[in-house]
Amino acid sequence: MRALIVEKDDEGQTSASVQDIEESRLPEGEVTVAVEYSTVNYKDGLCIGPGGGLVRNYPHVPGIDFAGTVEASDDSRYKPGDKVVLTGWRVGEAHWGGYAEKARVKADWLVPLPDGLSTRAAMAVGTAGLTAMLAVMALEKQGLKEGPVLVTGAAGGVGSVATAILAKLGHEVAAVTGRPDQEAYLRDLGATQIVPRDELTEVTRKPLEGEQWGGCIDAVAGAMLGRVLKQMKYGSSVAAIGLAGGAAIEGALITPFILRGVNLLGIDSVMQPYENRLEAWSRIAHDLPMEKLEAMVQPATLADLPGLGADILKGKVRGRVVVDVTA
Ligand code: NDP
Repeated sequence: MRALIVEKDDEGQTSASVQDIEESRLPEGEVTVAVEYSTVNYKDGLCIGPGGGLVRNYPHVPGIDFAGTVEASDDSRYKPGDKVVLTGWRVGEAHWGGYAEKARVKADWLVPLPDGLSTRAAMAVGTAGLTAMLAVMALEKQGLKEGPVLVTGAAGGVGSVATAILAKLGHEVAAVTGRPDQEAYLRDLGATQIVPRDELTEVTRKPLEGEQWGGCIDAVAGAMLGRVLKQMKYGSSVAAIGLAGGAAIEGALITPFILRGVNLLGIDSVMQPYENRLEAWSRIAHDLPMEKLEAMVQPATLADLPGLGADILKGKVRGRVVVDVTA
């Protein structure tokens, strides 16, 4: 089988290359899947790139998500021919992942593909899209306030899917981007307002600013999250999903929480229980406009991965990179 293998040499240098390897090298698991599609997420960029990022063991096959067809199964929930999707559970970091023609995983980590979703569409959504859906569900549970919902890192993977879902659900979406050339793309996904990134990255000493946003899905953190928190409407919520702009939240932090009752909701897609993943995938099949999905897709093959891994870490990738593992 062909796989993208990341290796580490004696000096600690890592390298990634496409190799033909024996299927017997696959890790243990109850279900063997013929992988059809995987994707490039921010974490994959870290795992492919120099230093190996989040990789726990070498040699390693990255790819934090995949969709494909069950080839063999020791678990009664799955039989050969079933279409499945996998996200999370440290697959692609601690367990070999989706950048290979076959994957062997625990049955508990899989979800049956919802009706109407192809393996390619499932990966156009992927971990980023699942996370966007989980963030929307968390905001709904908390109660969205009137006014635009802000999406940061909007031209990226999570941001693109979040924009399309929120717009389909009838919300006004304000999309924050550092790439002015992506305005038409974001408006086509349903954004009603474009906010230039640099309007929100300057750190101010003000404890609060004018109330603007009825909710927020934040992929960026850093200085931007510090500013956004001060602009949230009374009682509204921010679903924090990522830190593409830095791990620290900067600015006068406590005021939005105690003076405006703002909620900061942490979203983790990795350890989501089966029922939550199933619900999120079924909402995706229902609430994500499939005609918008194709505009987000950049197709790729295993051979393209080293270059794309570097690009995503620089914030250069638009939407979702879908890797045809069979090509
Ligand atoms: P992408 O690289 O596709 O998108 C991130 C976007 O953030 C970029 O496209 C860019 O958008 C913006 N951005 C990048 N760098 C900066 C910066 N320095 N300052 C401000 N904005 C910046 O990544 P994903 O959407 O796949 O993931 C986003 C984050 O979410 C990552 O940190 C990732 O690890 C995390 N994540 C977390 C998950 C979870 O379970 N919580 C699951 C999936 C991802 P633009 O050009 O439009 O400004």
